[in-house]
Amino acid sequence: MVSKIETEEAFEACLENKSNFIIITDSSNPMKIHKADCPFIKPEYFQEKVMDNECKNGEYYCCTSLNEAIEYALNKLNKEDVDIEDLKCKECLGNDQKL
Ligand SMILES: [Zn+2]
Repeated sequence: MVSKIETEEAFEACLENKSNFIIITDSSNPMKIHKADCPFIKPEYFQEKVMDNECKNGEYYCCTSLNEAIEYALNKLNKEDVDIEDLKCKECLGNDQKL
């Protein structure tokens, strides 16, 4: 299941399950998929992007599996132009990481 994260409560609930994945979209950066426990996932970033800026520059989505996250990201993008490896955060989903 993929759901848009619109409240701090939903954000915290998503992070609580370490097997979840988070998609972060950004108007000035490529879309990235992270594991819920990625060090790049920070409450202050969520607060700024979703709460303070009302998702004007990007959104957060909670996904229960990596495949769903990838599928969702590809559907939002032009599939032909996307390398799946580029969607994955290098820090938490790099090639040397076990999924
Ligand atoms: Zn990450």
